[in-house]
Amino acid sequence: MSDILEQYRIPAEPYYRPVADEVTLFEAAYAAKMPLMLKGPTGCGKTRFVEHMAWWLGKPLVTVACNEDMTASDLVGRFLLDASGTRWQDGPLAFAARHGAICYLDEVVEARQDTTVVIHPLTDKRRALPLEKKGEFLRAHPDFHLVISYNPGYQSLMKDLKQSTKQRFGALDFHYPAHAVESEIVAHEAKIDVAAADKLVAIAERSRNLKGHGLDEGLSTRMLIHAGELIARGVAPLAACRVALVRPITDDPDMRDALDAAVATFF
Ligand code: ADP
Repeated sequence: MSDILEQYRIPAEPYYRPVADEVTLFEAAYAAKMPLMLKGPTGCGKTRFVEHMAWWLGKPLVTVACNEDMTASDLVGRFLLDASGTRWQDGPLAFAARHGAICYLDEVVEARQDTTVVIHPLTDKRRALPLEKKGEFLRAHPDFHLVISYNPGYQSLMKDLKQSTKQRFGALDFHYPAHAVESEIVAHEAKIDVAAADKLVAIAERSRNLKGHGLDEGLSTRMLIHAGELIARGVAPLAACRVALVRPITDDPDMRDALDAAVATFF
């Protein structure tokens, strides 16, 4: 079992550029066993932050990308049939709770609410997970920690966390970092110079002002890194931005023209 657990350890320090006091707050929440919700738009550093914190705290990290077809059994576990009969297989949540890992449920609102409620007993003083089918009341390992991510921009009445779920978590707000910090991150990740990263960030800032005015979301740090990676491989900046920034984010011809024009003013 320890071999399997080892696979979830993060071997080398993931590069993470702190933006505010999130590292200290995460450490305190971990020590207090307070489950945490990371709130912010897609591609702004939430996953990288959890990876960094798992490495820093020396804990294995079990990540689950949530989706609407996910059932409670997918999280908790199920009996499997094999040659010797039936065998219980812990789901990722039970595995993390049993072995003291950090469990990161990414985009938890994507899961149906009847799936999400299975985390409730793990998030209060019980810190337990009843495995009803197996007849086991699993008490969480002292090192177990639950972290979820949540993009407030996507919420709708149909897709939101219940208040009874939300109120079990502390929350850290994530935003795109300040200009100079974001440039530093893009330059580091894409291996381009800060001057080029600076221009990509300026384009992103323009796009973020268009959120709600034709764009559902502005360009994320992740997208800027994609563009930078193409530039680092010798692709002309205009083409790199077209492929990695403008075309993925919108199908609307007018919006594409507006974004292409923004790119052209910087490159
Ligand atoms: P999210 O989980 O919010 O969707 P990610 O954590 O996957 O986003 O971030 C996308 C990419 O942006 C990361 O892979 C990383 O390269 C970069 N990134 C964003 N913010 C930071 C940061 N503060 N420090 C280091 N890298 C960052």
